[in-house]
Amino acid sequence: MICHKHVLYKMSCATWRAIHNRMPIDDMIVDKFKITTVSKCVCCVAIGMNPGLESSEHLFCKGDYAQRIWSSIIGRMGIITRHTNLRELLQRCWNSTSKNLVTEYVLSIIPPIIIWELWRSRCNSRYEEERPSTKRSISLIAFNICHLTKKNLSNINLTENWESLLKLMDIQLEDTIKWSRPSHHSMKLNTDGSCIRESSGGGGVVRDSNGNCIMAFILPLGNGTSNTAEEKAFLFLLKWCIANGHIFTTVETDSLLLNSILNLWSTPWRMRKTVDEIIELILRHNIQFNQCYREANKVADKLASCSHLTNTTIVFTDTSGLPAHVKGLLNLDKWQFSSFRIKKKEAFPNLL
Ligand SMILES: [Zn+2]
Repeated sequence: MICHKHVLYKMSCATWRAIHNRMPIDDMIVDKFKITTVSKCVCCVAIGMNPGLESSEHLFCKGDYAQRIWSSIIGRMGIITRHTNLRELLQRCWNSTSKNLVTEYVLSIIPPIIIWELWRSRCNSRYEEERPSTKRSISLIAFNICHLTKKNLSNINLTENWESLLKLMDIQLEDTIKWSRPSHHSMKLNTDGSCIRESSGGGGVVRDSNGNCIMAFILPLGNGTSNTAEEKAFLFLLKWCIANGHIFTTVETDSLLLNSILNLWSTPWRMRKTVDEIIELILRHNIQFNQCYREANKVADKLASCSHLTNTTIVFTDTSGLPAHVKGLLNLDKWQFSSFRIKKKEAFPNLL
């Protein structure tokens, strides 16, 4: 099973070497060359977890970083990822039987894809400037799985989308929180504000019905509060969309304050001008205004937090210039991937 004909050779090879402890990992180097080194797993350090000694078992199976990845992907397919070693974990995937053809196929290709990503992430963080991110790793793994499944199970109708794939595998989705795409030919705006020690800023993103980023921005606002930052970021994006002809839009924010202001029309005087302008634009252009869960607004949240690192407004109309962690979050949304599970709640009503 290590060498699956649909999986890239480098991935299968990495899997074989990981199982046989032949990867050039610290504990193997120490053992082979009898040299002493201070070994820490860079992936676990980056996510603030106990780093532990870098060994094959730690990096590919037992470490916190690896466990987050395995449990996010195969945990959802009913496979237990804890209290096991790498060999046994892979056997659980390969020996798992399912009446569902898609599930069976996905489980057969998953192990080398995950092992390769864990290795890639570790090496890029050690030797390049990449900071390990479980979100980015999950997004890349999901991308590879969807791509291979679509390519090789040509008899099934699959859009290259993680959520469609999970549906085909009969995995329950209704209790997940995720960013939802706007309807066809429509755009969705997400904005957020941020305030650290009275320095405020905003951020936001415009995406189409395929989840593609049309525009993103980082807006430093100087002295202020998170409430004023939310208002101004919201207005900035509304104006940009209208100026660029994107008028059939849905606007989303997780800000309760903004919602209550727009709902009750009772605005503190210093915000009155901004809010009046927002209300006027929303009504004039018939824009639908929604409140979303914070977890579904992560791209905007991250862009807003980036505003503290710059003094000038940055507008991205090309994703290549976006910070790497923002790109990772955009991909997760695009692939409709959600690792959040909550009890089903009543959806937020549309407020306008
Ligand atoms: Zn680790």
